[in-house]
Amino acid sequence: MESIEKILKDKYRHPTQWDQTFPPMSMGQMVTDSALAHPDAHMVDFMGRKFTYGDMYDQIRRVACGLQAMGVQKGDRVGLYLPNTPHYVAAYYGALMAGAIVVNFSPLYTAAELEHQVEDSGTKILFTLSAKALLPTAMEVLEHSTLETLIVGSVAEVLPPVKSLLFRWFKASESVAIPDDPRIIRYDRFMTNKGDCAVAQIDPVNDVALLQYTGGTTGTPKGAMLTHQNLTANARQAQAIDPRQHEPDRIIAVLPFFHVFANTCTLNRTVVNGGEMVMLPRFDAAQVLAAIQRVKATSLPGVPTMFQALLDHPAIRNIDFSSLRACISGGAPLPLELKQKFEAATGAHLIEGYGLTETSPIVCTNPYEGLNKSGTVGQPVPATRVKLVDREDPTRPPPQGEPGELLFAGPQIMKGYWNRPDADAQVFVGDYIRTGDVGIIDEDGYVKIVDRLKDMIAVGGFKVFPSQVESVLYHHPAVKEALVIGVPDHYRGEQPKAFVTLNEGHEIDGPALRDWVNPQLGKHERVCDVEVRLNLPKTLVGKLSRKELVAEERAKAQAA
Ligand code: AMP
Repeated sequence: MESIEKILKDKYRHPTQWDQTFPPMSMGQMVTDSALAHPDAHMVDFMGRKFTYGDMYDQIRRVACGLQAMGVQKGDRVGLYLPNTPHYVAAYYGALMAGAIVVNFSPLYTAAELEHQVEDSGTKILFTLSAKALLPTAMEVLEHSTLETLIVGSVAEVLPPVKSLLFRWFKASESVAIPDDPRIIRYDRFMTNKGDCAVAQIDPVNDVALLQYTGGTTGTPKGAMLTHQNLTANARQAQAIDPRQHEPDRIIAVLPFFHVFANTCTLNRTVVNGGEMVMLPRFDAAQVLAAIQRVKATSLPGVPTMFQALLDHPAIRNIDFSSLRACISGGAPLPLELKQKFEAATGAHLIEGYGLTETSPIVCTNPYEGLNKSGTVGQPVPATRVKLVDREDPTRPPPQGEPGELLFAGPQIMKGYWNRPDADAQVFVGDYIRTGDVGIIDEDGYVKIVDRLKDMIAVGGFKVFPSQVESVLYHHPAVKEALVIGVPDHYRGEQPKAFVTLNEGHEIDGPALRDWVNPQLGKHERVCDVEVRLNLPKTLVGKLSRKELVAEERAKAQAA
């Protein structure tokens, strides 16, 4: 086969050159350029209130100057513990303009998770909201950790004065009083400065912008250090592959900004595009469908479970999708059937991409127009090199024609893990990063993910790939979701066990499913048990997650 570089130069399906370059740029520069170019473009909050880029830029400057006045120096860590609200946008870009490193915290974190990440990152200042679901947790961590200051926005600013259709979200986020405490600053008071300070000088290639914590879905959380150039390059890469990049998008921002996928594909990418962004702080299928029609959305980034939930919602039949041109799916494999049904129901393209927290995240996508190969994650985005290596030894190519571990290099690859040189040594091979994903690259330069190395089950000396067993289970008409993990086995080390949920109206028990699936599997792939459950664990962005099940089974085995 020709070299992958030659294939990508000759057969590139994205509307740009594969070897396009992205000169170093800071996040402050990116947001300033956009505010100057599109002062009247706007963002819309949950309440339908509009903020022009000009208004938002003014707020960003105030955050930057407010933080500098508090003594924040270049490289200090500033945390965001916020849903998708205008506070997030202002605090994020403002902290970066002040030269701080932003640390993203999931709004679903427990106090213990929040505390671990505060301590590991050395976060001293945390932005949050006076929501019942956030402020008490943040205050608990303020008492027990190195955290010094909370900057707290009022929930009343983001909630309607009367109960409405949106009431469901508020139950989780009813307001709590902001206590009188010298360590707690009210956001509105913090913002009373004029925003007229000199902002920090940034070296985009070397200065870290974001600490993005990842397990990924396995292992202990580590902070991926994403530089200013990593983030601005990835937003520009995402923009470059859109054939209609010069038309402003109207984009539904429902994926949580704290997650790197939304951070780049929704927030930063909208800023580069000068588009309109509609912020929804929480996923609710009916709200998302209504918002698409109301604002005539053109674009919706999401994860497969989100597209499935939209497809399953009865309102989908009554929505006008004519404005919607592209939905971007990432974070987990997009089942072919879901892609086909969603495209048939909406008339919009559902385009699959792929990436990792450590790669800011996008490294591959299918093209918006032209050859979309279902079952693949498309071609590398511009300026991104890919190679396959042997699963056991990343310094060697895989045996001819066999899948291998995917490695990527490019301007979006992280600088390293925060304070974890041991983890860096395992993940970098020269300027390439290991993904732990196993794939192949076809004759057109399209990448297909075959499995995740990290989730491999070692049965005796044999390796079993959970997704292969899961894909057989998905063929059973009763099976809605399936996860397979390795459980301890005193004879073979590990053996596969399956967990499933069932489609509505179906009834079957675990032993019957086991007897159905095992004859279709290789000797080592056979499952010891199938457990039928009402729900399977998912990450906050909706990806099925094996790690909780692994921990549960491990605890069970230890107790036995
Ligand atoms: P995270 O860093 O949590 O975003 O997880 C990154 C991992 O998600 C990758 O290493 C892949 O295993 C998986 N992933 C992301 N997108 C896809 C996709 N389109 N198909 C298959 N796996 C994916």
